[in-house]
Amino acid sequence: MASADEPRRTPLPFPRRRLDRRAVDVVRRLQDAGHETYLVGGCVRDLLVGMRPKDFDLATAARPEQVRRLFRRSRIIGRRFRLVHVYVGRNVYEVATFRRDPPGGRGGEPDEVRMIRRDNVFGTAREDALRRDFTVNALFLDPIREEILDWCGGLEDLRRGRLVSIGDPRRRFREDPVRILRLIKFLRRHGFEPGPAEVAAARELAPAVAQAAPPRVVEEVFRLMESGDMAGAWEDLEHLGLVPILLPDLAAWLDRGGDRRRRLLGRLGLLDDWIEEGGRPGYALRLCFLYGCLVEEELDPAARTLPVREFAQVPAVLFNRLQERARLPRHELTRAARILLAQLRLDPPAWLPRRRRRGTAEHLIEQDWFPDALEYLRCRLEADGRDPAPYDEWHERALSLEEGER
Ligand code: ATP
Ligand code: MG
Repeated sequence: MASADEPRRTPLPFPRRRLDRRAVDVVRRLQDAGHETYLVGGCVRDLLVGMRPKDFDLATAARPEQVRRLFRRSRIIGRRFRLVHVYVGRNVYEVATFRRDPPGGRGGEPDEVRMIRRDNVFGTAREDALRRDFTVNALFLDPIREEILDWCGGLEDLRRGRLVSIGDPRRRFREDPVRILRLIKFLRRHGFEPGPAEVAAARELAPAVAQAAPPRVVEEVFRLMESGDMAGAWEDLEHLGLVPILLPDLAAWLDRGGDRRRRLLGRLGLLDDWIEEGGRPGYALRLCFLYGCLVEEELDPAARTLPVREFAQVPAVLFNRLQERARLPRHELTRAARILLAQLRLDPPAWLPRRRRRGTAEHLIEQDWFPDALEYLRCRLEADGRDPAPYDEWHERALSLEEGER
């Protein structure tokens, strides 16, 4: 791997006002206290490609306790590696001490590389850059000197739209197979081109994803759903044989054939459209788009395979199974179950007995998740090529209720 000891420094290629003012204040406070500190990772990449970063992460030479002492509103979190959350106003900034890969984690032949499970050895800024996954994710930004620091050619790769791993991709994917999912995410989200070695390594090592910690893997699936091209990402996952590893229950459902795959891809395509229009679906909605087709089928007593008496239990049973391998926020699972069950009231299926279709509309409309349920209804009708009338009616109802309250 070509990596100089000294980074290449480039003046900030965009106006400083695009940086989050409070994140810059946190960097300044740490630098003023004598600690080398930068903005790092995804936020630098996103700023450079002209996207609005989701969050601003910092890396610093200061130890967690030192960071903690500098900021009254901060706390140390994490066990595997300790980070500091610094709270400014309503924002939270993640401040991590520079780390390097643990001894023995790298070096030697790729086949001897063991998976990195612990990741807790402090290091220098350079080491911290080089332990990262892809060159475009290893750029450091100094908002005070207004420059980008680049140890491994990430800036050039970014300009050319290339996704290149830092070091031999076979070794890096073996160390941490979750990087294969991250590869798909960045290809789909930014439209980068992968290097040929990255593609070959992803094919070869995809089965190793089964050895990664399931909560991390499931989390990456949910991040993939924010990429804006989940329909494309799904096909990548299929090509790599990853669907049964990531989502065994969905894979089993898809194996039952029919038009199930087409329906699922239709839903994922609408999720993509929605993100394209600026939507930011939370976990609950992402769960609905992923599991909606399966849940709808299981709700119908004639098609059901789950051993439940009451249709109302269906989403919870399915989400509990998922949660055995995941660590999704509990309230989001509950919210997703409510949104999916509300569809029965918003757009009753033929199998639902008349007496079960009642319940006051006001009560439903007042729920904080109702706007999501309505939005999901709209997408579902569109994906299934149906008349949008049920959506229009409920939309009207919600509006007139709001009017009445004013
Ligand atoms: P997203 O925009 O989806 O948050 P991200 O690149 O910011 O993507 P994070 O999971 O937020 O990803 O991680 C922040 C940074 O940490 C990454 O940009 C990368 O430098 C580093 N990183 C994250 N996961 C890994 C990994 N599995 N291996 C090596 N470095 C990683
Ligand atoms: Mg990030």
